Amino acid sequence: MDLFTTPASLRTQCRQWREQGQSIALVPTMGFLHDGHMSLIDHARACADKLVVSVFVNPTQFGPNEDLDRYPRDLPRDLALAEAHGADAVFAPEAGAMYQPDHATWVEVPEMAKGLCGASRPVHFRGVCTVVLKLLNLVRPKVAVFGQKDWQQLAILRRMARDLDLDAELMGMPIFREPDGLAMSSRNVYLTPDERSRVPAIRQGLLLAQRRVAAGERDAEALALMFREHLADTLPDARVDYASFAHPESLAPVARIDAPTLLAVAVFIGKVRLIDNILLEV
Ligand code: AMP
Repeated sequence: MDLFTTPASLRTQCRQWREQGQSIALVPTMGFLHDGHMSLIDHARACADKLVVSVFVNPTQFGPNEDLDRYPRDLPRDLALAEAHGADAVFAPEAGAMYQPDHATWVEVPEMAKGLCGASRPVHFRGVCTVVLKLLNLVRPKVAVFGQKDWQQLAILRRMARDLDLDAELMGMPIFREPDGLAMSSRNVYLTPDERSRVPAIRQGLLLAQRRVAAGERDAEALALMFREHLADTLPDARVDYASFAHPESLAPVARIDAPTLLAVAVFIGKVRLIDNILLEV
């Protein structure tokens, strides 16, 4: 497995592979890899001849008061994991290699980025779209694999890919969870042991909503209130950033659950912001 740290060297290698008739799969990550990432990597491994994993804590998707500086990093461990799972290349550039000092071009899908996580993270999806388009242009993969944990991100990237006629197929993999239901996240290491033992309440709240829908509840506001009350009971020190219902593809707000609907939530516990979601079927 090779480590690339400059865009030019990665592009040269990928171009060579394509000229040899080898297809490429890409898994973009911010590193500190966990089993959720590995499920993407294992899936991608089976999709193409060559597998590229990117490990890049993309500064442009962090707001000024977010956790860019303390985002967990462990490149040696990430390299070992990627290699053990069959990656042919890891791309781990410094921020300065990805963005020129006078970088001025941004990709945005504003309508889909204003709700859910976008409401409290206004520059986030602009940074995500821009860096993912850059990665897709460098690698020119046949498939790029993402996680449904970041459902809004995946929906926005799919719209970007459609609107800009990108060649790559964007695939979404199910949320990989700890045995107690907590969605795996690099940020889970921020939790204190006490917080960690209680945060599965978030997943339980989503499942509760699902059961209410199965029992006939259709009113999104009532379901959101129920989710908030469940968290107030089980995780009183948490602050719900949002608990919102949206069309799974367009992300348009949904008031009545008459068709498959995304319930997405973000919850602050201490300084840690956790996200999770569930697709409610009727
Ligand atoms: P990140 O490193 O957090 O930017 O995540 C990189 C990719 O892994 C994104 O496509 C995420 O949606 C995906 N991912 C992160 N956590 C999980 C998880 N628990 N299950 C499935 N995919 C995940």
